[in-house]
Amino acid sequence: MKALVKAKAEPGIWMEDLPAPKVGHNDVLIEVGKTAICGTDIHIYHWDEWARQTIPVPMAVGHEFVGRVVEIGSEVQGLAVGDRVSAEGHITCGYCRNCRAGRRHLCRNTLGVGVNRPGCFAEYLSVPAFNTFKLPDVIGDEMGAILDPLGNATHTALSFDLVGEDVLITGAGPIGVMATAIARYAGARHVVTTDVNDYRLDLARKMGASLALNVTRDSLDEAMKNLGMEEGFDVGMEMSGNGSAFSDMLRTMHHGGSIALLGIPPQELAIDWNEVIFKGLTIKGIYGREMFETWYKMSSMLQSGLNVSPIITHRLPAQDYLEGFEIMASGQSGKVILDWRGA
Ligand code: NAD
Ligand code: ZN
Repeated sequence: MKALVKAKAEPGIWMEDLPAPKVGHNDVLIEVGKTAICGTDIHIYHWDEWARQTIPVPMAVGHEFVGRVVEIGSEVQGLAVGDRVSAEGHITCGYCRNCRAGRRHLCRNTLGVGVNRPGCFAEYLSVPAFNTFKLPDVIGDEMGAILDPLGNATHTALSFDLVGEDVLITGAGPIGVMATAIARYAGARHVVTTDVNDYRLDLARKMGASLALNVTRDSLDEAMKNLGMEEGFDVGMEMSGNGSAFSDMLRTMHHGGSIALLGIPPQELAIDWNEVIFKGLTIKGIYGREMFETWYKMSSMLQSGLNVSPIITHRLPAQDYLEGFEIMASGQSGKVILDWRGA
Protein backbone atom coordinates (compact mmCIF):
# COMPACT_ATOMS: atom_id res chain seq x y z
CA MET A 1 0.00 0.00 0.00
CA LYS A 2 0.97 3.64 -0.41
CA ALA A 3 1.75 5.47 2.84
CA LEU A 4 3.27 8.74 4.01
CA VAL A 5 6.31 7.56 5.92
CA LYS A 6 8.66 9.36 8.24
CA ALA A 7 11.40 7.37 6.56
CA LYS A 8 14.50 9.24 7.71
CA ALA A 9 15.53 11.10 10.87
CA GLU A 10 15.59 14.46 9.09
CA PRO A 11 13.06 17.07 7.93
CA GLY A 12 10.60 15.76 5.33
CA ILE A 13 8.04 13.05 4.72
CA TRP A 14 8.01 10.51 1.93
CA MET A 15 5.34 8.51 0.05
CA GLU A 16 6.47 4.90 0.02
CA ASP A 17 5.12 1.38 -0.51
CA LEU A 18 4.56 -0.56 2.70
CA PRO A 19 2.97 -3.95 3.37
CA ALA A 20 -0.68 -3.54 4.51
CA PRO A 21 -0.93 -3.83 8.33
CA LYS A 22 -1.94 -7.09 10.05
CA VAL A 23 -5.20 -7.44 11.94
CA GLY A 24 -5.09 -8.92 15.47
CA HIS A 25 -8.11 -10.69 17.07
CA ASN A 26 -9.38 -7.44 18.56
CA ASP A 27 -8.52 -5.16 15.63
CA VAL A 28 -10.18 -3.97 12.46
CA LEU A 29 -8.56 -3.16 9.14
CA ILE A 30 -9.78 0.12 7.72
CA GLU A 31 -9.53 1.26 4.11
CA VAL A 32 -8.70 4.93 4.54
CA GLY A 33 -10.88 7.39 2.63
CA LYS A 34 -9.82 10.88 3.68
CA THR A 35 -7.30 12.18 6.18
CA ALA A 36 -6.54 15.58 7.67
CA ILE A 37 -3.19 17.14 8.54
CA CYS A 38 -2.69 18.11 12.19
CA GLY A 39 -0.17 20.49 13.77
CA THR A 40 1.47 17.36 15.22
CA ASP A 41 2.14 16.12 11.68
CA ILE A 42 3.85 19.43 10.93
CA HIS A 43 6.14 18.95 13.96
CA ILE A 44 6.97 15.51 12.58
CA TYR A 45 7.49 16.93 9.07
CA HIS A 46 9.84 19.64 10.37
CA TRP A 47 11.53 17.10 12.65
CA ASP A 48 11.70 19.40 15.67
CA GLU A 49 13.04 18.49 19.10
CA TRP A 50 9.75 16.88 20.23
CA ALA A 51 9.52 14.80 17.04
CA ARG A 52 13.15 13.66 17.28
CA GLN A 53 12.51 12.42 20.81
CA THR A 54 9.14 10.81 20.09
CA ILE A 55 8.70 9.40 16.59
CA PRO A 56 10.17 5.99 15.66
CA VAL A 57 11.71 5.92 12.18
CA PRO A 58 10.63 4.58 9.75
CA MET A 59 6.87 4.73 10.40
CA ALA A 60 3.68 5.82 8.59
CA VAL A 61 2.28 8.88 10.38
CA GLY A 62 -1.13 10.64 10.62
CA HIS A 63 -4.06 10.21 13.00
CA GLU A 64 -7.06 12.14 11.59
CA PHE A 65 -9.11 10.04 9.17
CA VAL A 66 -12.33 8.52 7.96
CA GLY A 67 -12.56 5.14 6.27
CA ARG A 68 -14.42 1.86 5.85
CA VAL A 69 -13.97 -1.39 7.74
CA VAL A 70 -12.71 -4.06 5.33
CA GLU A 71 -11.62 -6.82 7.73
CA ILE A 72 -12.53 -7.75 11.28
CA GLY A 73 -10.53 -9.63 13.95
CA SER A 74 -11.99 -12.89 15.25
CA GLU A 75 -12.99 -11.45 18.67
CA VAL A 76 -14.57 -8.22 17.42
CA GLN A 77 -18.25 -7.57 18.06
CA GLY A 78 -20.55 -4.74 17.06
CA LEU A 79 -18.84 -3.83 13.79
CA ALA A 80 -19.33 -5.11 10.27
CA VAL A 81 -17.36 -5.00 7.04
CA GLY A 82 -18.48 -1.86 5.20
CA ASP A 83 -19.07 0.27 8.33
CA ARG A 84 -17.91 3.85 7.88
CA VAL A 85 -15.76 4.84 10.84
CA SER A 86 -13.27 7.22 12.29
CA ALA A 87 -11.26 6.25 15.36
CA GLU A 88 -9.92 7.59 18.60
CA GLY A 89 -6.16 7.80 18.04
CA HIS A 90 -5.22 7.34 21.69
CA ILE A 91 -4.76 3.63 22.28
CA THR A 92 -5.17 3.04 26.00
CA CYS A 93 -3.89 0.12 28.05
CA GLY A 94 -7.20 -1.15 29.43
CA TYR A 95 -5.67 -2.30 32.75
CA CYS A 96 -4.60 0.85 34.65
CA ARG A 97 -6.85 2.31 37.35
CA ASN A 98 -8.30 5.02 35.11
CA CYS A 99 -8.94 2.65 32.22
CA ARG A 100 -10.68 0.22 34.56
CA ALA A 101 -12.81 3.08 35.86
CA GLY A 102 -13.84 4.07 32.31
CA ARG A 103 -11.70 7.22 32.37
CA ARG A 104 -9.64 6.14 29.41
CA HIS A 105 -8.59 9.67 28.46
CA LEU A 106 -6.57 9.66 31.70
CA CYS A 107 -4.74 6.41 30.93
CA ARG A 108 -1.08 6.67 31.94
CA ASN A 109 0.04 4.26 29.21
CA THR A 110 -1.55 5.90 26.16
CA LEU A 111 0.00 5.24 22.76
CA GLY A 112 -0.76 7.51 19.81
CA VAL A 113 -1.72 6.37 16.31
CA GLY A 114 0.76 8.00 13.92
CA VAL A 115 2.96 9.05 16.86
CA ASN A 116 4.00 5.89 18.72
CA ARG A 117 2.51 3.32 16.29
CA PRO A 118 1.72 3.30 12.55
CA GLY A 119 -0.66 6.01 11.42
CA CYS A 120 -3.48 6.65 8.98
CA PHE A 121 -1.66 8.47 6.16
CA ALA A 122 -1.89 5.23 4.24
CA GLU A 123 -4.33 3.22 2.17
CA TYR A 124 -4.96 0.90 5.14
CA LEU A 125 -4.85 1.25 8.91
CA SER A 126 -5.25 -1.35 11.65
CA VAL A 127 -6.58 -0.21 15.05
CA PRO A 128 -8.27 -1.89 18.03
CA ALA A 129 -11.99 -2.20 17.25
CA PHE A 130 -12.64 -0.57 20.64
CA ASN A 131 -11.21 2.69 19.30
CA THR A 132 -13.45 2.98 16.25
CA PHE A 133 -16.45 5.28 16.12
CA LYS A 134 -19.23 4.43 13.66
CA LEU A 135 -20.43 7.48 11.80
CA PRO A 136 -24.05 8.39 11.23
CA ASP A 137 -24.86 9.15 7.57
CA VAL A 138 -25.35 12.86 8.23
CA ILE A 139 -21.66 13.24 9.09
CA GLY A 140 -19.95 13.44 5.71
CA ASP A 141 -16.48 12.10 4.95
CA GLU A 142 -14.71 15.43 5.30
CA MET A 143 -16.25 16.07 8.71
CA GLY A 144 -15.53 12.43 9.64
CA ALA A 145 -11.86 13.06 8.87
CA ILE A 146 -11.58 15.94 11.37
CA LEU A 147 -13.42 14.46 14.35
CA ASP A 148 -10.14 14.11 16.24
CA PRO A 149 -9.44 17.88 16.44
CA LEU A 150 -13.15 18.67 16.67
CA GLY A 151 -13.05 16.32 19.65
CA ASN A 152 -10.23 18.36 21.23
CA ALA A 153 -12.37 21.46 20.77
CA THR A 154 -15.46 19.71 22.13
CA HIS A 155 -13.67 18.26 25.16
CA THR A 156 -12.26 21.70 26.00
CA ALA A 157 -15.39 23.73 25.29
CA LEU A 158 -17.78 21.44 27.16
CA SER A 159 -15.55 21.30 30.25
CA PHE A 160 -17.39 24.24 31.79
CA ASP A 161 -20.94 25.58 31.57
CA LEU A 162 -21.07 28.17 28.75
CA VAL A 163 -24.73 29.19 28.83
CA GLY A 164 -24.92 32.97 29.04
CA GLU A 165 -21.21 33.22 29.79
CA ASP A 166 -18.49 35.42 28.32
CA VAL A 167 -15.79 33.26 26.80
CA LEU A 168 -12.19 34.03 25.83
CA ILE A 169 -10.48 31.69 23.38
CA THR A 170 -6.77 32.39 22.86
CA GLY A 171 -5.49 30.89 19.59
CA ALA A 172 -7.56 30.70 16.40
CA GLY A 173 -5.85 27.61 15.03
CA PRO A 174 -8.24 24.96 13.70
CA ILE A 175 -9.08 23.87 17.25
CA GLY A 176 -9.66 27.41 18.57
CA VAL A 177 -11.87 28.22 15.60
CA MET A 178 -13.97 25.07 16.08
CA ALA A 179 -14.19 25.80 19.83
CA THR A 180 -15.52 29.24 18.88
CA ALA A 181 -18.37 27.60 16.95
CA ILE A 182 -19.09 25.20 19.83
CA ALA A 183 -19.15 28.01 22.42
CA ARG A 184 -21.63 29.86 20.22
CA TYR A 185 -23.72 26.70 19.74
CA ALA A 186 -23.64 26.00 23.49
CA GLY A 187 -25.15 29.38 24.35
CA ALA A 188 -22.29 31.68 25.33
CA ARG A 189 -23.08 35.42 25.36
CA HIS A 190 -19.81 36.79 23.99
CA VAL A 191 -17.08 34.71 22.42
CA VAL A 192 -13.84 36.63 21.98
CA THR A 193 -11.19 34.78 20.00
CA THR A 194 -7.60 36.01 19.69
CA ASP A 195 -4.68 35.23 17.41
CA VAL A 196 -1.82 36.97 15.63
CA ASN A 197 -2.90 35.62 12.21
CA ASP A 198 -5.59 37.52 10.27
CA TYR A 199 -6.48 34.60 7.98
CA ARG A 200 -7.41 32.53 11.00
CA LEU A 201 -9.20 35.39 12.74
CA ASP A 202 -11.42 35.65 9.65
CA LEU A 203 -12.31 32.00 10.09
CA ALA A 204 -13.13 32.64 13.76
CA ARG A 205 -15.50 35.44 12.69
CA LYS A 206 -17.17 33.11 10.18
CA MET A 207 -17.63 30.57 12.95
CA GLY A 208 -19.44 32.91 15.31
CA ALA A 209 -16.91 34.93 17.30
CA SER A 210 -18.42 38.12 18.74
CA LEU A 211 -14.99 39.64 18.23
CA ALA A 212 -11.86 38.21 16.67
CA LEU A 213 -8.83 40.16 17.85
CA ASN A 214 -5.35 40.38 16.44
CA VAL A 215 -3.40 40.89 19.67
CA THR A 216 -0.53 42.53 17.78
CA ARG A 217 -2.92 45.43 17.03
CA ASP A 218 -6.08 45.22 19.12
CA SER A 219 -6.40 45.55 22.88
CA LEU A 220 -8.35 42.95 24.79
CA ASP A 221 -9.34 45.51 27.44
CA GLU A 222 -10.73 47.82 24.76
CA ALA A 223 -12.68 44.93 23.24
CA MET A 224 -14.20 44.03 26.60
CA LYS A 225 -15.26 47.63 27.07
CA ASN A 226 -16.87 47.69 23.61
CA LEU A 227 -18.83 44.55 24.41
CA GLY A 228 -20.06 46.06 27.66
CA MET A 229 -18.18 43.53 29.75
CA GLU A 230 -17.40 44.88 33.19
CA GLU A 231 -16.02 42.04 35.25
CA GLY A 232 -13.96 39.78 33.01
CA PHE A 233 -14.35 36.48 31.21
CA ASP A 234 -16.23 33.67 32.89
CA VAL A 235 -14.59 30.89 30.90
CA GLY A 236 -11.19 30.80 29.19
CA MET A 237 -9.95 28.26 26.66
CA GLU A 238 -6.21 28.47 26.05
CA MET A 239 -5.59 27.08 22.56
CA SER A 240 -2.36 28.75 21.46
CA GLY A 241 0.34 27.36 23.74
CA ASN A 242 1.63 30.94 23.88
CA GLY A 243 2.73 32.30 27.27
CA SER A 244 1.66 35.89 26.73
CA ALA A 245 -1.79 34.74 25.55
CA PHE A 246 -2.16 32.76 28.78
CA SER A 247 -0.99 35.72 30.91
CA ASP A 248 -3.53 37.97 29.19
CA MET A 249 -6.21 35.40 29.87
CA LEU A 250 -5.33 35.17 33.57
CA ARG A 251 -5.37 38.96 33.79
CA THR A 252 -8.81 39.35 32.15
CA MET A 253 -10.62 36.50 33.92
CA HIS A 254 -13.59 37.16 36.17
CA HIS A 255 -13.13 36.21 39.82
CA GLY A 256 -14.23 32.62 40.21
CA GLY A 257 -13.79 31.95 36.50
CA SER A 258 -12.70 28.69 34.90
CA ILE A 259 -9.94 27.97 32.41
CA ALA A 260 -9.45 24.91 30.23
CA LEU A 261 -5.87 24.52 29.00
CA LEU A 262 -5.38 22.68 25.71
CA GLY A 263 -2.52 24.60 24.04
CA ILE A 264 0.87 23.00 24.53
CA PRO A 265 3.63 25.48 25.46
CA PRO A 266 6.90 24.61 23.70
CA GLN A 267 8.76 24.86 27.00
CA GLU A 268 8.20 25.50 30.70
CA LEU A 269 6.03 28.52 31.29
CA ALA A 270 5.99 30.89 34.26
CA ILE A 271 2.70 32.54 35.26
CA ASP A 272 1.61 34.97 37.97
CA TRP A 273 0.04 32.56 40.46
CA ASN A 274 -1.45 35.50 42.36
CA GLU A 275 -3.95 35.85 39.51
CA VAL A 276 -5.02 32.25 40.05
CA ILE A 277 -5.10 32.37 43.83
CA PHE A 278 -6.69 35.74 44.55
CA LYS A 279 -9.26 35.33 41.78
CA GLY A 280 -10.07 31.79 42.90
CA LEU A 281 -9.68 30.48 39.36
CA THR A 282 -10.23 26.86 38.40
CA ILE A 283 -7.75 25.52 35.84
CA LYS A 284 -8.25 22.21 34.06
CA GLY A 285 -5.72 20.55 31.77
CA ILE A 286 -7.19 18.91 28.66
CA TYR A 287 -5.64 15.98 26.86
CA GLY A 288 -7.28 14.37 23.86
CA ARG A 289 -10.94 13.49 23.96
CA GLU A 290 -13.04 11.77 26.62
CA MET A 291 -13.54 8.20 25.51
CA PHE A 292 -16.12 8.11 24.30
CA GLU A 293 -18.38 10.79 25.71
CA THR A 294 -16.71 13.49 23.60
CA TRP A 295 -17.32 11.42 20.46
CA TYR A 296 -21.02 11.01 21.18
CA LYS A 297 -21.40 14.67 22.12
CA MET A 298 -19.78 15.99 18.95
CA SER A 299 -21.64 13.54 16.79
CA SER A 300 -24.91 14.67 18.36
CA MET A 301 -24.03 18.36 18.05
CA LEU A 302 -23.19 17.89 14.36
CA GLN A 303 -26.59 16.24 13.90
CA SER A 304 -28.39 19.09 15.64
CA GLY A 305 -27.02 22.20 14.02
CA LEU A 306 -23.35 22.65 14.89
CA ASN A 307 -21.64 23.59 11.64
CA VAL A 308 -17.84 23.70 11.54
CA SER A 309 -17.45 23.05 7.82
CA PRO A 310 -15.82 26.45 7.04
CA ILE A 311 -12.76 25.17 8.92
CA ILE A 312 -11.96 22.92 5.94
CA THR A 313 -10.16 25.26 3.55
CA HIS A 314 -8.03 22.98 1.35
CA ARG A 315 -8.62 19.62 -0.36
CA LEU A 316 -5.93 17.70 -2.20
CA PRO A 317 -5.30 14.20 -3.52
CA ALA A 318 -2.90 12.28 -1.24
CA GLN A 319 -0.18 12.42 -3.92
CA ASP A 320 -0.02 16.20 -3.43
CA TYR A 321 0.73 15.78 0.28
CA LEU A 322 3.82 18.00 0.20
CA GLU A 323 1.73 20.94 -0.96
CA GLY A 324 -0.75 20.13 1.80
CA PHE A 325 1.97 20.06 4.47
CA GLU A 326 3.38 23.36 3.24
CA ILE A 327 -0.05 25.02 3.25
CA MET A 328 -0.68 23.77 6.79
CA ALA A 329 2.78 24.94 7.92
CA SER A 330 2.20 28.41 6.44
CA GLY A 331 -0.66 29.20 8.85
CA GLN A 332 -2.73 30.41 5.88
CA SER A 333 -5.25 27.60 6.21
CA GLY A 334 -7.84 25.91 8.32
CA LYS A 335 -7.86 22.13 7.97
CA VAL A 336 -6.24 20.52 4.93
CA ILE A 337 -7.84 17.29 3.71
CA LEU A 338 -5.99 14.60 1.74
CA ASP A 339 -8.05 12.16 -0.34
CA TRP A 340 -6.63 8.62 -0.44
CA ARG A 341 -9.03 7.14 -2.97
CA GLY A 342 -7.04 6.24 -6.03
CA ALA A 343 -3.71 6.77 -4.22
P1 NAD B 1 -2.22 25.82 15.90
O1 NAD B 1 -0.77 25.86 16.18
O2 NAD B 1 -2.68 25.74 14.49
O3 NAD B 1 -2.94 27.07 16.58
C1 NAD B 1 -2.34 27.89 17.51
C2 NAD B 1 -2.71 29.31 17.14
O4 NAD B 1 -2.27 30.18 18.18
C3 NAD B 1 -2.06 29.78 15.84
O5 NAD B 1 -3.05 30.19 14.91
C4 NAD B 1 -1.17 30.92 16.31
O6 NAD B 1 -1.08 31.96 15.33
C5 NAD B 1 -1.90 31.37 17.56
N1 NAD B 1 -1.11 32.25 18.45
C6 NAD B 1 0.23 32.39 18.54
N2 NAD B 1 0.54 33.35 19.42
C7 NAD B 1 -0.62 33.82 19.93
C8 NAD B 1 -0.95 34.83 20.89
N3 NAD B 1 -0.01 35.52 21.52
N4 NAD B 1 -2.26 35.05 21.14
C9 NAD B 1 -3.23 34.36 20.52
N5 NAD B 1 -2.97 33.39 19.60
C10 NAD B 1 -1.68 33.12 19.31
O7 NAD B 1 -2.77 24.60 16.71
P2 NAD B 1 -4.16 23.81 16.79
O8 NAD B 1 -4.04 22.57 15.99
O9 NAD B 1 -5.35 24.68 16.61
O10 NAD B 1 -4.03 23.40 18.32
C11 NAD B 1 -4.11 24.39 19.33
C12 NAD B 1 -3.13 24.09 20.46
O11 NAD B 1 -3.53 22.91 21.13
C13 NAD B 1 -1.68 23.88 20.04
O12 NAD B 1 -0.84 24.40 21.05
C14 NAD B 1 -1.56 22.36 20.00
O13 NAD B 1 -0.23 21.93 20.21
C15 NAD B 1 -2.44 21.98 21.15
N6 NAD B 1 -3.06 20.66 21.11
C16 NAD B 1 -3.27 20.06 22.29
C17 NAD B 1 -3.93 18.84 22.34
C18 NAD B 1 -4.18 18.19 23.67
O14 NAD B 1 -4.65 17.07 23.69
N7 NAD B 1 -3.91 18.91 24.76
C19 NAD B 1 -4.36 18.22 21.17
C20 NAD B 1 -4.15 18.89 19.95
C21 NAD B 1 -3.51 20.11 19.93
ZN1 ZN C 1 -4.74 2.70 30.95
